[in-house]
Amino acid sequence: MALKIQDYKTDVHNDWCPGCGDFGVLSCIQGALAEMQLPPEQVLLFSGVGCFAKTPHFVNTYGCHTLHGRSLPFAVGAKLANPDLTVISLGGDGDGYGIGAGHFLNTGRRNLDMLYMVFNNGVYGLTKGQASPTLKKNVQTKSLPMPNINDAINPLAVALAAGYTFIARGYAYDGKGLRQLIQQGINHRGLALLDVLQPCPTYNTINTKEWFEGTEMDEETGIKKVVKPKIYKLEETGYDPVVHNPEDAGEIAQKKLQAFQKSQEWDDKIPVGVFYQINQSTFEDRLRERIPALNQYTASKMPIYDRETGTPTVDISKALSELRVC
Ligand code: SF4
Ligand code: MG
Repeated sequence: MALKIQDYKTDVHNDWCPGCGDFGVLSCIQGALAEMQLPPEQVLLFSGVGCFAKTPHFVNTYGCHTLHGRSLPFAVGAKLANPDLTVISLGGDGDGYGIGAGHFLNTGRRNLDMLYMVFNNGVYGLTKGQASPTLKKNVQTKSLPMPNINDAINPLAVALAAGYTFIARGYAYDGKGLRQLIQQGINHRGLALLDVLQPCPTYNTINTKEWFEGTEMDEETGIKKVVKPKIYKLEETGYDPVVHNPEDAGEIAQKKLQAFQKSQEWDDKIPVGVFYQINQSTFEDRLRERIPALNQYTASKMPIYDRETGTPTVDISKALSELRVC
């Protein structure tokens, strides 16, 4: 029987603020999984700490709410133990690009086959709206006594440098587009970064839904109208993010350069969509070459004893002897 979006929902109470962009991202995750008909027991979600981090509580798959900035190492461990699972690591802009920045960089070098989604709202919403690493310089949100003194990092440019093989940006209120990007990120064979612009109406009173969508209230009619939208879709401009020949260093450099240039656009025009994509060997491929038994068993199912006789098939006495203190 076909799975419906309801099958991916839980009845856990949700206390996100009204109008929070997290609602849009949550429903896109549930919708994307339903559209892909992924069995809930084959999907594993990890999150760090922040308002967004409650997401695994609300999605009816396996899930784990981990530590601040640490969803990636948990996800990497699970994916290595059982590469058959669909693993999605969830981060926040403070969580993933601040305290988890080391994991963000170094997971990029490995190219595991999984999706890293970052809910990016420019503030630490859970702790009352301090500036996060993605809040632009000189922007003064509600909780800041003075404009932000620091420059923001550009997560897409960092991901390009770190080695992510699929780099995309979505927008929380673009349901169809975001569901599509989540599916593309899951289907990509390699490590995908999906940075999601997710307005926090409670603490980021600058980068609001109205700011992104360029809407204003018509004072006479009281109706909102689109005046100057900032968000636009790369796919509608003829932009081609794909490296068609992964052996061609020249094409890789050219595609990285155009992705870097696009990632610099902000303020007047903000692109969403896929910025860069290349197919390269995954960490799992390279591991299977080194450990041929992984072609037969996942690490979590590797036999370590004979099921009939109970005799160990792995000799750990050498390892234990190395631990002995004389
Ligand atoms: Fe959402 Fe911001 Fe409220 Fe957190 S503080 S639930 S991010 S609106
Ligand atoms: Mg945040």
